[in-house]
Amino acid sequence: MSERTFVIIKPDAVRRGLVGAVLSRYETKGLRIVTLEQRRIDADLADRHYAEHVEQPWYPPLREFITSGPLVALVLEGDAAIDAVRGLNGATDGRRATPGSIRGDYSLSNRENLVHASDSPESSAREIGLWFPGLS
Ligand code: ADP
Ligand code: MG
Repeated sequence: MSERTFVIIKPDAVRRGLVGAVLSRYETKGLRIVTLEQRRIDADLADRHYAEHVEQPWYPPLREFITSGPLVALVLEGDAAIDAVRGLNGATDGRRATPGSIRGDYSLSNRENLVHASDSPESSAREIGLWFPGLS
C-alpha cells in the first residue's frame, strides 16, 4: 500500500555535503520525492516537531543542533514507505547502526545522525501537516 513519510536530512548531513548521497539511497530504493525544501528552522518549530522529546535531558543540545544550520525537509512516497525509510536510516545511534544503513555508514553519533523519518502513520500525518501544511 502506498504511503507517505516525512524525512529531514539534518544540518550535519548538509554541512558534510551528504544531501545527494542520502537522497540517492531513497531514490534508488524506489521511493518518490513528493516535495523537498531546504530551510532553517527556529526553536519553536523544533519544539513542535520533537514534542515527545522536549522533556528529555538530551533535548536542549538536540534543539541547538537541529536549528544550527540549513536542513532539507521532504516527503517521500511509496509502498510501505514509513517502515522502508526507517530501515534505510538505521538505528538511532550511529555508533551502533548496522553498516549499509545511512546512519551505519555515515554517523558515529547518537545526536548527529544525519536523518529523521516518521515512525508511524500517525506521526507521518502530524509531521507532514506541521512542515508542509499546504500539501494535500
Ligand atoms: P529516531 O530519530 O531514530 O526516531 P528518537 O525519536 O528516539 O530517534 O530521537 C530523536 C532524535 O533525538 C534522534 O534522531 C537523535 O538525533 C536525538 N537523540 C535521541 N536519543 C538521544 C540521546 N540519548 N542523546 C542525544 N541525542 C539523542
Ligand atoms: Mg523518533
